[in-house]
Amino acid sequence: MSFDKLNLISPIQEALKIEGYTKPTEIQMQAIAPLLEGKDLLGCAQTGTGKTAAFAIPILQNLSKLQIDKKDPKTIKALILTPTRELALQVGDSFTAYGRNLGLKIGVIFGGVSQNPQTDMLKQGIDILIATPGRLLDLMNQKYINLHHIKFFVLDEADRMLDMGLVADVKRIISHLPRIRQTMLFSATMPREISKLVDSILTDPVKVAV
Ligand code: AMP
Repeated sequence: MSFDKLNLISPIQEALKIEGYTKPTEIQMQAIAPLLEGKDLLGCAQTGTGKTAAFAIPILQNLSKLQIDKKDPKTIKALILTPTRELALQVGDSFTAYGRNLGLKIGVIFGGVSQNPQTDMLKQGIDILIATPGRLLDLMNQKYINLHHIKFFVLDEADRMLDMGLVADVKRIISHLPRIRQTMLFSATMPREISKLVDSILTDPVKVAV
């Protein structure tokens, strides 16, 4: 199967060509179509499976349609939470690569560095935010970030969030999200604490394991 069967808009098809992707990986084959339809998703997948593109491509496509339809102002409409700064940066690079030519603003925030460049970026307005939980909560408390317009939420590497003691922060963030949204959760393993979280934040999810 090639990407042609997935009904992707041409700017995304072009971007994937530039990346040198010729066919979708297993998780992309299973996840992209239901995510384009707005379904919630539970993905059991490790890094290296192509999971980032599996959620980034549908989010970019759905967001770009939203923009054309409504001429939305720049408010944060998609939030991706990652456990580490390295993963946040990688996910940010992926959104930037697949989303070239879409005119969407993508921002990455993480702790351990000065917040000033991050708050400057936020003031200019972004559509897609990739964040680690601690810095996100910090900037939310300082009112630099408002999550009222989130339509797409991804919790990436949920089991690592648990290992790193970040689940309480994650739950606090989720409590600020609109109830009506599309949610995607990825985890390589499914400890009890994460399966409880799955039950509380996903609605009738499509399940993909690779
Ligand atoms: P991930 O599992 O999201 O960390 O992706 C692992 C690597 O696979 C990244 O370097 C991606 O650029 C690459 N990748 C993702 N999807 C594809 C694809 N369909 N074809 C070739 N490479 C891909």
